[in-house]
This record gives sequence, structure tokens and C-alpha cells, in this order.
Amino acid sequence: MKATIISVGNELLSGMTTNTNLVEIARELFMLGIETTKSISVRDNKEDIHEALKHVKDDLLVLTGGLGPTHDDITKESVCDFYGLELTLHHETKTRIENYFARLGREMRDTNEKQAYFPKDAIVLNNNHGTAPGVIFSTNGITVVLLPGPPTEMRPMLSRVKTYLQERTDIRVYSSGYLVVGIGESELEAEMVDYYPKHPDVSIAPYAGLSQIRVVFIAHEAKPLERALDDFKKRFKPYIVGPYDTTIEQRLVETLMAQGKVISFAESCTGGMLTSTLINVPDASEVIKESHILYSNESKVKHLGLNRMIMERFGAVSEQCVYELAYHLAQRTDADITMSVSGIAGPSGGTAAKPVGTVYYGIHHEGKTKTYHRVFSGDRNMIRTKATVTGMALLLKALMHEDDDS
Ligand code: ATP
Ligand code: MG
Repeated sequence: MKATIISVGNELLSGMTTNTNLVEIARELFMLGIETTKSISVRDNKEDIHEALKHVKDDLLVLTGGLGPTHDDITKESVCDFYGLELTLHHETKTRIENYFARLGREMRDTNEKQAYFPKDAIVLNNNHGTAPGVIFSTNGITVVLLPGPPTEMRPMLSRVKTYLQERTDIRVYSSGYLVVGIGESELEAEMVDYYPKHPDVSIAPYAGLSQIRVVFIAHEAKPLERALDDFKKRFKPYIVGPYDTTIEQRLVETLMAQGKVISFAESCTGGMLTSTLINVPDASEVIKESHILYSNESKVKHLGLNRMIMERFGAVSEQCVYELAYHLAQRTDADITMSVSGIAGPSGGTAAKPVGTVYYGIHHEGKTKTYHRVFSGDRNMIRTKATVTGMALLLKALMHEDDDS
């Protein structure tokens, strides 16, 4: 099975929205052993959608976006019109949408009714996070999947689609992978030159993000996959923070919960990003004790009792400062583990000794305070994001007692 992905939405072509759905859908299909041969982005416009459909040569077609209730959401109508399929009312879905509005204490608008119309024999994918249901149907030998645009609505449906495809395709694939932090993409590639030839039966694809890489492996048999995973783990253990389909924040919350520990933060250059990222994970309230954003030098002295002399002698961006902050934080908040972070996010403020991107971390855990020093590249926000990701990875390693590289 091969796939074409069509992304629909004016916002994708006006530069307002990054097409993250494409990446996620293509990756999940890849993991099923389904190759995406083509991706097309089009405006919310019937002619443009029809034009794109003329180019579909594959037996799987996935469209995202334009399933909303408004007059400019016309994906389903345009696709069905193209293939000559009639839309009929799906009563169960209409009731679901009515109930959705009732739960929010609002009345369903007439415009929402069109979301309950589907071609005959279609499989409706319920939406628990919005009103637009997705749908799977077959026509002209093509399996057509329509998914909503908002990623939070698209994602849960995609896993339903995966199950559907898995049950229907005869391709047997075994897939797995790792989430890797602390090594750059080119560095990883360089380290892997002699790795690839050792595993010729496994497709390996690294998906790089800011300071993190998801390395996914697929194979047609279980044994070669296992060997490739083991070999990768041996070589890159210090950088592996979990399976490919997790997030570092998720892993950190899980690990803290499993160990029954609570954490406190003292954030300077990350400005609360560490805490906020962790709070994205449900159950974060069980593991976060408190968090201080101590941006000015004065606040570090005032709230955590940092010795003024330390700041005058070594500066706020220093090993000594983060050491003291992590230590004092542990004493004052009685958390099981603490992290302090101080750095130069730029664009100004760098020196020859401490260039822009310099970040120091302090971690106090099990009676010991350790410090870490990293230098990140990029603009201000990239540096802060990388500092956040790396900070979480350092915490994970400390909790797992794999933190020998301070
Ligand atoms: P609804 O209108 O009910 O929200 P919909 O299926 O019509 O659902 P769209 O109107 O196409 O969704 O998109 C809604 C939002 O989803 C957009 O504002 C955009 O931010 C986001 N979005 C749309 N397509 C994509 C995409 N391919 N990748 C990432 N985000 C997207
Ligand atoms: Mg739209």
C-alpha cells in the first residue's frame, strides 16, 4: 500500500500554520510500512481540491483539514463530489454532535448539521475533542481517510486509522524506536556510518527536533529489528530517554511518580518554560512542588538566599550560582530533587568566556549537588527550548543514576 497526503487549509499556504499533521501522518504510515509518495497542500477551495485529487495514483489517500462547520470547510463535500458519492445523514453522529454542544451548555447551530453527513458504508471516526468527525470510506479502489485539521483532534483519530489499516493490509512490519536527547543530528549520523551496514534489513529514520531526535526502526521480521535496537542502545545509551512515541516531559513525570518524588525549580533564562512544559503532562500536580522564576540577580538573593558575593565574583550565569540555587532550593522547599538553570539566551550578553547559548544547570538529588554546563546554538527561543529539553533529560538521567557526565 502506498499513500498520498493532501493537506487542506488556507492557513497552511499563507504561512500562518506549520503543517505538522503531514509530518505526523507520514511518520505513522511509515511505521506501518506504508510509503507516502506524494504530499499536496491546497487552499480551502473546491477546484484546488479537485485538481489535487486528479494526481492521486496510490491506493491510500489521506486528507486533513476543512471538516469544520463553517462555509469555508468543504473538504468532505469536494472529495465526495469528485468521486460522485452521495452524502446521507448519519443519525448517530448528529446526536453525538448535539450532545457535545449540550455538554458545553450551548445549542447546536444549523451549520454543524453538515458534519453528520457521510457517504454510504463509511466508517465514522468520532471526535471527542471537537465537532468534526473523521471518516474512512472506499471508492474506485482507493481507501480515503478524512481527518480534521486541529492536531489535537487529528491525533486520536490517526491511531484509529492505524488500527484499521493494520487489520486490512497484509504488510507485516515490526517497528519501534527511541527518543534521543543531547546529541546533534549530524553527530548521530557520523556515529552511525558503520552502524547502518550492520543492519541492512532494517529501515532507520531519524526525525530531528530541537535538541531531540526520534529514531524509528522498521523491519519485516522481528529478529533483525531486535538486533538493531540492541546495538543502537549499546552505542547511544547515555542519550536515550525513552521510546520514540513518548515525550521527555512525559517520561520525567512518570519517573518522578514511580519513585514517589517531588521536584522544585529555580528558573532564570528558561523563564518558567521547564515548569510549564512539565505541567503539560496530566498528573504533573503530583510531582511538582514549586517553581521560582528568578530572573534578576536581586531576586536570586531575595528569594533563595543566594550569597551576593557569589554573584559578584562569578556572575549569575555560573557553575557556582546554579550550585547554590539548587542547594538552597532543596533546603527551602524540601523537594526530593531540585533543578536550577541560568544562562545567556541572547542575542546580547555573551562574552568570549561565556558566549550566547551558555547554560548552567544545578541538580540537587539524594544529598548531592551537581552542576552541568552546556552551550546551545540558535536564536533566543531556540536556546531556551533546547535548554528546557536538555534540562529535563539531565533530570531523568539523575533520577535513573545515569548522570556521570557533569
Ligand atoms: P474545525 O474548523 O472544526 O476546527 P477543521 O477540520 O475544519 O475543524 P481546519 O479549519 O482545517 O479544521 O483547521 C483548524 C485549525 O487546525 C487551523 O487553524 C490550524 O491551526 C490547524 N491545522 C489545520 N491544518 C493543519 C495541519 N495540516 N497541520 C497543523 N495544524 C493544522
Ligand atoms: Mg479550515
